[in-house]
Amino acid sequence: MDADASDALVLFGATGDLAFRKIFPALQALVAHEGFELPVVGVARSGWTLEALRERLGASIDAYGDRTDRAAAARLAGLLRYVDGDYREPDTYRRLREALGAARRPLHYLAVPPSLFATVIDGIGGSGCAAGARVVVEKPFGRDLASAQALNRVVHRVFAEPSIFRIDHYLGKEPVQNLLFFRFANAFLEPLWNRDHVEAIQVTMAESFGVEGRGRFYEEVGAIRDVIQNHLLQVVAHLAMEPPVGEGADALRDEKVKVFRGIRPLAASDVVRGQYSGYRAEDGVAPGSQVETFAAVRLHLDSWRWAGVPIVLRAGKRLASTTTEVQVFLKRPPQQVFGEAVPPRSNYFRFGLGPERVEIAIGARAKRSGAGMLGEDIELVVCNERGSRMGAYERLIGAATRGDPTLFAREDGVEAAWRIVDPVLAAPAPPHPYAPGTWGPAEADALAAAWGGWRAPKRE
Ligand code: NDP
Repeated sequence: MDADASDALVLFGATGDLAFRKIFPALQALVAHEGFELPVVGVARSGWTLEALRERLGASIDAYGDRTDRAAAARLAGLLRYVDGDYREPDTYRRLREALGAARRPLHYLAVPPSLFATVIDGIGGSGCAAGARVVVEKPFGRDLASAQALNRVVHRVFAEPSIFRIDHYLGKEPVQNLLFFRFANAFLEPLWNRDHVEAIQVTMAESFGVEGRGRFYEEVGAIRDVIQNHLLQVVAHLAMEPPVGEGADALRDEKVKVFRGIRPLAASDVVRGQYSGYRAEDGVAPGSQVETFAAVRLHLDSWRWAGVPIVLRAGKRLASTTTEVQVFLKRPPQQVFGEAVPPRSNYFRFGLGPERVEIAIGARAKRSGAGMLGEDIELVVCNERGSRMGAYERLIGAATRGDPTLFAREDGVEAAWRIVDPVLAAPAPPHPYAPGTWGPAEADALAAAWGGWRAPKRE
């Protein structure tokens, strides 16, 4: 094991939903694939015992983990410890320190409601549990620029920046990693990847389902905070960044921050918000809610490479399908050589980011078999896989225990991303209603009208 690697994992929020759905299954996968063998100390206040937590772990593996790998589940159960106590009580952290025993480099995972981030961080800091430690902070990291800056100050009271791991699980997704890999592992892309050849970039993150019982949570966020400020802006950074210079986590993160800094803060005219009909009748949703379940934004990226290229994003719930897809449309040939005009947007790069299929494809025009010089649109498929072998949380937790921050948001990156959306968060215009099963309100069409309109994702 790396001398700098963590020697224990502390799971604040061990009895919660995220631990159940994502963290325990990821730990099981790490045990199975990477021989993970750190003690895992769960901390919560349910009055549980270690046995109860092990039962919860078993239920989590049955529901979301690999049910066939009983051996890995049993090994993980053997690594579990449990400390019961309120996060507001200093005694909880004293007992945590005891439970950590000889561990000197614990990784503290804050899978707790954001309102408790500061309480837990101060508790860790005041108890001797912070020495040599790292911290993973779940999303959301703030709810606007000012609160993100305030949270950064809170975390820095106890942890130095290299020890802070801010989760954006999109950074751990296989297809998002492949976006970066495909861009910089192939020289042929570079001559095309700029304002001279790219006509527009479109990113769609669509969910066909609604808030699914999480109305109370969603009322506090809305689509812009929930997925655009973090996941979709990270995707844009991967698409638009310059190749990293040098090695290490900061080389990559420096380039991403430059992209965020180059994007103008959103104006009201760059944003269309929507709300699906029926949202206000969901559990936990205010009858007069103005929260957006859909948002479309047009970004202006002022860089030498991208100036003037439309970059449009849309994300929403209760849309026509569940899919996340990037489409990079190339300009048309300058001249009509054959007897037909090449249809617009025949040439493109398409990145399917899931959830069902992980794809990279290139759209091209080829001659249709027969007498005439007539064409048809074809797709060259670079890769097309069902799902991915490694889950995002498995990758991220593994990286955090090794102390590798490459796949985590840095302080300046988080703040630069909030700066982009900040102007449209406070007192926005009421959202436009849209019918479930559509692509959102018709008003969003205007944002993409100048270059032919939104194109539905290929994989619906
Ligand atoms: P839950 O409300 O399900 O879990 C909260 C956890 O915190 C529980 O283990 C709870 O323990 C514990 N807790 C709360 N207050 C205290 C306290 N005063 N003292 C001790 N323990 C306490 O939250 P989630 O798991 O849904 O979310 C956790 C974090 O993950 C949040 O930041 C959320 O934004 C983020 N997240 C969640 C996702 C999800 O799908 N759930 C997705 C992405 C991010 P007890 O049960 O004993 O009260």
